[in-house]
Amino acid sequence: MPAAEAARPAWVRELQAIAQDDPRDAIARAGAREREATDIGDRFWAQLALARAHGAFDAYDDAAASLHRAEATLAAWPAATDLHRLWAALVRLDTTWTHIEPALAQRGMGRLKDGLARLRPPDGALECEARSVDLTLLIDIDSLDEAWLAAEALERCARQLRLPELEAYGSYSLGLIASRGKARTQADPDEHFARALRVLGDQPYRLFRTTLLKERGVALRNVKRWEEALAHLTASADLARAIDFAPGLAGANISTAVLHVTRNEPARALPLLNEARRLLEGHDDGFRLLYVGRYTVAALAALKRPEVVQAIDFARRWDSASVPPNERALLARALAAGYASVGRYAEAFHEVERAERLQEDGQAMAADVQVLRLQARYAAAQRDAENSELRHRSEQARLALETQAAKQRALWAAIATLAVLLAVVGGLVVRMLRRRRQLADLALRDELTGQPNRRAIRAYAEASFAQARQLGLPLTLALIDLDHFKRVNDTLGHAGGDAVLRALALAAREVLRGQDRFGRWGGEEWLLVMPGTGVAEMPAVFERLRERFANTAAAGVAGRHGSTFSMGAAALAPQTATLDALIAACDEQLYTAKTDGRDRLAFVTA
Ligand code: GH3
Ligand code: MG
Ligand code: MG
Repeated sequence: MPAAEAARPAWVRELQAIAQDDPRDAIARAGAREREATDIGDRFWAQLALARAHGAFDAYDDAAASLHRAEATLAAWPAATDLHRLWAALVRLDTTWTHIEPALAQRGMGRLKDGLARLRPPDGALECEARSVDLTLLIDIDSLDEAWLAAEALERCARQLRLPELEAYGSYSLGLIASRGKARTQADPDEHFARALRVLGDQPYRLFRTTLLKERGVALRNVKRWEEALAHLTASADLARAIDFAPGLAGANISTAVLHVTRNEPARALPLLNEARRLLEGHDDGFRLLYVGRYTVAALAALKRPEVVQAIDFARRWDSASVPPNERALLARALAAGYASVGRYAEAFHEVERAERLQEDGQAMAADVQVLRLQARYAAAQRDAENSELRHRSEQARLALETQAAKQRALWAAIATLAVLLAVVGGLVVRMLRRRRQLADLALRDELTGQPNRRAIRAYAEASFAQARQLGLPLTLALIDLDHFKRVNDTLGHAGGDAVLRALALAAREVLRGQDRFGRWGGEEWLLVMPGTGVAEMPAVFERLRERFANTAAAGVAGRHGSTFSMGAAALAPQTATLDALIAACDEQLYTAKTDGRDRLAFVTA
C-alpha cells in the first residue's frame, strides 16, 4: 500500500524535534544518516530532515543544497509516491519562503493544499505540518484573521497527534497575532505565550524556546511590563548563547536594546547593539543589521555623542529599495534625530522629508498587501471556479466539434448533390473546400502568434503520449512561463508584451526540431511536446531556446527585450499514469524553477 509507506518514519520525526532544540545536533545526526543510508528511501528522508535542520538555523544555502539532493533522490527512486513528493514540496516551501515573493509562496501553498485534498494522506502529520507552514505564510502577509484560524486548527491537530512543538507553535502564533493588536478576540497575548511554554513542559526545545521567550518579552515590553520583559529577553539571550545560535542571540540583544532606548537608558543599549553587530556581520542578515543601525543612531543621538556620524553611515549601508518603505521611514526619522543631535540641521530636515515620502509609499504598499491578502483568502474559491470553467470550456469545445462534424456531413451531402448538378462550376466547390480547411486550421491556431493553441497542443500531446506508451519511446513535455511578465507589460506596455510573446514563438519555431511542437497553453504559458526526446537532452534544449529568444527582436522594442522564461520539464516514466499526471509534474518543476530564481530549467522523470 504505497500511501502507508509514505508515512514519515519515526526517526525523521525525532530529528525534527531535535532540530527545534539544538539544530547543530540534528544536522550532525541527519548528515550521518544520509552518508550511511543504504536504502534510497532512508537517504531521501535523511536529506529532507537535513534541509529542515539547516532551515531551523536560518542557514538558507545549506538548506537549499540538502533539498536539491532530496529532490534528486526522489526523482531516481522508483518506489517514490505522490505523498513523498508532497513532503518534499512542504519542506521546499518551509525552507524557501523567506527568500521568495509572498505571492509565489501563496501559490506554492495553494498547490500543496490541492495535493493534500487530492491524496488525503492517512498520515495526519503531513497535513498538520502543512498547517503550520500555512500559518507562517499568513502571518508573513499580515493576514491575521486567517492566521488566527490556522493557529487554532494547528493547536488542535498537533495536540491530537502529540506533536508538542507544533502545538506550542500554534499557541505562540496566537500570542504573536494578539500582540499585534488586530486579533479577532481581545485575548491577552501573554496567556497564549504562557500556554505555549506549558505545552513544551520540561522538554528542552531550546531553539524554539529562544524565539518564544523573545517574542513574549517583546509583547510584554509593548505593554510596558518592563521588568518581566527584561527577564524574558535575558532568558532568550542565555538560551541562544547555550546552543550557539548567533542570529537568535543578536535578535534578543536588539529587542533588549530597543527596551532600553524606549525607557530612555541609551547607555545600556549600546553594548548590546555592538555585540549584535559583531554577531551578525558575515551572516548576510541585512534586516537585523538595519535595526542595529537604527537603534545605535537613536542611542548615540540621545547621548549627543559625535560617533553618531559613523553610526549614520553604518545604518545607511542596510537601507535599500528592497527594505519595506515603512521601515525605511522609521530609519530616516532616526537619522534625522542623529543629524540634529550634532547640529547638522539641513541634513536632518532632508531626512524628515524623505521619511514623509517613504511613509506615503508604505501606505500604497499596504494597499498591495491588502490585495495579496484577499488573494490568499479567495485562492481556494478561485481554483474551484477555474476548474469548473475548464470543465465548462472543454464541454463547449466538444459541442463545437460536434456541430462542426454535423455541418461537415451536411456539406458533404450538399457537395454530392452539387457535384452532379454543377459539374461545370466544379472550381467553386474546390475553393469552398479550401476555405473550409483554412477555417478548421484557424480553430487550432493561436491568433497572436500563429502557434498551436491550447486545444491543438493538448491533442498533439495526447497522441504523442499514447504513441510513446504503446511503442515504449521516450517523450518529454515542458511547461514554459515568462518571468515577471506583469512587469514586462508594465514597462513595455501591453503591445510590447505581445511582441515579446511573438518573439518567443519565433525563437521556438527556429530552434525546435521536426516532431517537436510548441503551443500556447494560456496567457504567457507554453507547452512544449517533444516525442523521442529524453530528459537528459533538456538542458541543451533549454539553452538553445534561451539563447535564441534573448537574441530575437521584439517588434517595436528598441534593443534587446531582456525578457527571460522559466521551464519545467518532465519525461514519461513507466509509472506515469496519464497525460495530466505528466503535465502536473511539469507544473511542479516549473514552480521549482521559479522559486529557485527563474530564468532556469528544472526537470524530473515523472
Ligand atoms: P512569474 O515570473 O512568477 O511568472 O511572474 P509573472 O509576472 O509572469 O506572473 P504571472 O504568470 O502571474 O503573470 C502573467 C501575466 O501575463 C499577467 C497578464 O497580464 C500577462 N499576460 C497574459 N496573457 C497576455 C497576453 O496575451 N499579452 C500580454 N501582453 N500579456 C499577457
Ligand atoms: Mg503565468
Ligand atoms: Mg509568468
